[in-house]
Amino acid sequence: MKTYGYGHQSITEADIESVVEVLRGDYLTCGPAVRAFEQAICAYTGAKYCVAVANATAGLHIAALAAGLGTGDEAITSPITFLSSANCIAFTGAKPVFADIDAHTADIDPDEIEKRITSRTKALVPVHFAGQSCDMKRIATLAKCHGIKVIEDAAHAIGSDYGDTKVGSCAYSDMTVFSFHPVKTITTGEGGAVTTNDPDLYAKLCALRAHGTHKDGEMAHTWEYEMRELGYNYRITDLQCALGVSQLKRLNEFKRRRREIVSYYNENLALPHLEEMPYSNACFHLYPVLVENRREFYFKARAAGLNLQVHYIPVHTQPYYRATYGYKPGDYPKAEAYYAKCISLPLYPSLTDDDLSEIIRRIKGIL
Ligand SMILES: *Cc1c(COP(=O)(O)O)cnc(C)c1O
Repeated sequence: MKTYGYGHQSITEADIESVVEVLRGDYLTCGPAVRAFEQAICAYTGAKYCVAVANATAGLHIAALAAGLGTGDEAITSPITFLSSANCIAFTGAKPVFADIDAHTADIDPDEIEKRITSRTKALVPVHFAGQSCDMKRIATLAKCHGIKVIEDAAHAIGSDYGDTKVGSCAYSDMTVFSFHPVKTITTGEGGAVTTNDPDLYAKLCALRAHGTHKDGEMAHTWEYEMRELGYNYRITDLQCALGVSQLKRLNEFKRRRREIVSYYNENLALPHLEEMPYSNACFHLYPVLVENRREFYFKARAAGLNLQVHYIPVHTQPYYRATYGYKPGDYPKAEAYYAKCISLPLYPSLTDDDLSEIIRRIKGIL
């Protein structure tokens, strides 16, 4: 029996050739493929600057540091996300605060953000869940009003549009972070990128990726460099970036197929699913549905060759978050109600029409 996961990378011979070409060249890291990938992301998203990094968690970490987060500060993110969106705040010593979701989109709800803003709030980290952009105009208005930074966690959302802007353009934020893990829409194996339009943030991000070192002015022509802050080795390799350049060329085609699959599921499965808002034209990363008795559904699906996944366990209910910050179940009721029923069906561009009818047949068999 053919088995299906909830996501899978799509790698062509052209992708493979682009990586092999780097292996035959002079630079395995810090070379021209890294710049080429960063420039391609800028061209695609419309952002002025891009810093490619080892993974999105590293990208979120340096974005949080560049935003000035530190001990005594707070930043607000969604409870329905991967751990990194909140962990990146904790890495800096700041306190991760959550704001509940809008049940129609499972994105963070701007009204809930507003309720959680305090004099300590220094940043918002909205997560474009399943690929659908958050309501960025409202989030940007809140941020302006309170003088705080916005870091978009767009790990799910490369290729997505918000109104007439691309996610990653930073039209409504200070920085946007992408992930290129194999389950995401385009992949570099492991990898991530931060985009921004602000030259000062760009300089900080570059330094933080490379141990906090700077090499400006006369230093550019000598062996000298200066470490002015504590940074990390969050570099990505040329091998990975060559794959990224090649994958990015296929993004629009991935988006077309992903949206086609979502429409097909919407029409052929009568299961509650996310709504797409008028401001969104999403390159969907996930297709979560809500099912009664999710645990039973999960195991029956597995027996039927469907290896599904749950996105996500609300972060505030994790033991670390409960022990460190005193969060408890019941704190974010909409996120917890969503989590109780959600499960993500297979969604990746290489699924054929035959695969889709087979998947639907199996799901109907276990409902
Ligand atoms: C995958 C993911 C991340 C982390 O990405 P990595 O590249 O694996 O570090 C962060 N946030 C969200 C919402 C994600 O889905």
